Amino acid sequence: MLDIFLFIATFVFMEFVAWSNHKYVMHGFLWSWHKDHHVNDLKKIKEEYNGKFKFEKNDRFFVIYALPAIVLMIIGFNINNLHLVSIAVGITFYGFIYFLFHEVLYHKRLKFKLLQNSTFSYFNAIVKAHLAHHQPKNAKDFDNYGLLIFRLEYFKN
Ligand SMILES: [Zn+2]
Ligand SMILES: [Zn+2]
Repeated sequence: MLDIFLFIATFVFMEFVAWSNHKYVMHGFLWSWHKDHHVNDLKKIKEEYNGKFKFEKNDRFFVIYALPAIVLMIIGFNINNLHLVSIAVGITFYGFIYFLFHEVLYHKRLKFKLLQNSTFSYFNAIVKAHLAHHQPKNAKDFDNYGLLIFRLEYFKN
């Protein structure tokens, strides 16, 4: 039971980690890595990848976020501590959801029609909220650093 709680708590906490890192690290001192993710913001957003998969410098963050989960998993299995494994699985699951919603649903870096053609209102709201992040009025003015949690206004049509 505690392990299920740890898994859920870790998942929710990761949204906070993602939001704060995106806002203060990626748009802060590591802007040089994140910049290429925003390079097309002034052009039309949907043409960004043209269906061809390209690596961005920004993808380095996936490796960085995967490291604590891998380390926790190795330690957890080695000392037989299921709590650590639950936290590691929570981080990994958040990373997977982030990949699915950010890279696949929104940026369409991979094709997945079932997700991309879905009319589920929460998915539409995620897309609108992230679109707002990719429409800065100037180089400093970005909105919506989170992914799964955003203002309710994005649910409106
Ligand atoms: Zn950004
Ligand atoms: Zn994006």
